[in-house]
Amino acid sequence: MNLEDLDKKYILSTYNKNYVNFITGKGSTLFNDDGVKFIDFSSGIGVNSVGHNNKKLTDALSEQINKIIHISNLQVIEPQVKLADKILKLAKYDGKVFFSNSGAEANEGAIKIARKYGSQNFDNIKYEIITLKNSFHGRTLATLKATGQTIMHKDYFAPYPDGFIYADDLDDIYNKINIKTVAVMIELIKGEGGVEALAIKEVQKLSNFLENKNILLIVDEVQTGVYRTGEFLASNIYNIAPDIITLAKGLGGGVPIGAILTKHKEIFQFGDHGSTFGGNYLSSTAGLIVLEILSDLKSSNELQNTINYFQNKLRSILKDNSKIFDEIVGYGLILGLKLKNHNLLNKIYEESFNENIIILKSGNNIIRFMPSLNISESEINEGFNRFNKLLLKIK
Ligand SMILES: *Cc1c(COP(=O)(O)O)cnc(C)c1O
Repeated sequence: MNLEDLDKKYILSTYNKNYVNFITGKGSTLFNDDGVKFIDFSSGIGVNSVGHNNKKLTDALSEQINKIIHISNLQVIEPQVKLADKILKLAKYDGKVFFSNSGAEANEGAIKIARKYGSQNFDNIKYEIITLKNSFHGRTLATLKATGQTIMHKDYFAPYPDGFIYADDLDDIYNKINIKTVAVMIELIKGEGGVEALAIKEVQKLSNFLENKNILLIVDEVQTGVYRTGEFLASNIYNIAPDIITLAKGLGGGVPIGAILTKHKEIFQFGDHGSTFGGNYLSSTAGLIVLEILSDLKSSNELQNTINYFQNKLRSILKDNSKIFDEIVGYGLILGLKLKNHNLLNKIYEESFNENIIILKSGNNIIRFMPSLNISESEINEGFNRFNKLLLKIK
């Protein structure tokens, strides 16, 4: 049986997937089992932040694997402590950290922190969390319900955890706030919901308003965190210090890890929360090396040069294809081309596999680009040459 048949036979059907069989990669270049070369503009949905087969990362991981992979959180874990310290310093954030294994789990923990805060600090119990329409916060029951896309709240998964309210946009959050509101949870740039960046002034206004009302601000930076926007956190661009920030995707360079940062340092006591795997030797070593590589890229200005180069290419694509695309959305290296006709979205996406480039979709009309943060100029050139060829076929 070939790979596609085996996949269909043994793997539960949750993704409408492509069946290219990738064998090896280097940087932002991947090779399939026929040796055919692909340019990766997706970095595994923002996970491979330092590229495939990054020698610094693989060397550090091999070294760690040869010592200890895992000891439970019943013992102190040195690389985990170092990683927390590094994250808080890079984020310029005065808080504490909890490590999970994924973005949804980080958000789940953030929801628990908000609920404990709401039950401890007020006479009436506050537990409602307001989230935004078209947001994405994960696939567990609570984070799925937190996700502001009612189409995803299938009846056959009910009952869901209670207490999630959806606001149409930033302005509407003020209308939805009530006596039971404990927190507002937002993405500053909606990764899955259209790569739309919220207005900086409006977010700062909301952040101040919530602080005055003792309502928590949770910022889901699972996709935007770890230099994706050019700064360590999108929150750094917005110049806000949310009560809770969640991270995951790019943090481990491909090794699963998530993190919750909170300024409410004493919110949890023994037994309130936990994770068997969270922040083990393997994943926190990965996080440490990834942050070392990326903070070097940032301080040497290489990251900004890569961002400028990539964005310039995108601008020329937009200029040459003004009949197909409306505008460029996003920040740093979480970018999108907005289509004038959303019917082209799937066509362009499907065609990309014939041109051997990997791109992403977002919302119903955005071609999303999230390359590794160290993608080379020649890979960018080659990727966009292929993308241009694809567009010629569409026209
Ligand atoms: C990917 C993503 C999640 C979910 O992360 P998982 O690791 O898939 O659980 C949550 N929030 C945002 C903004 C994401 O992009």
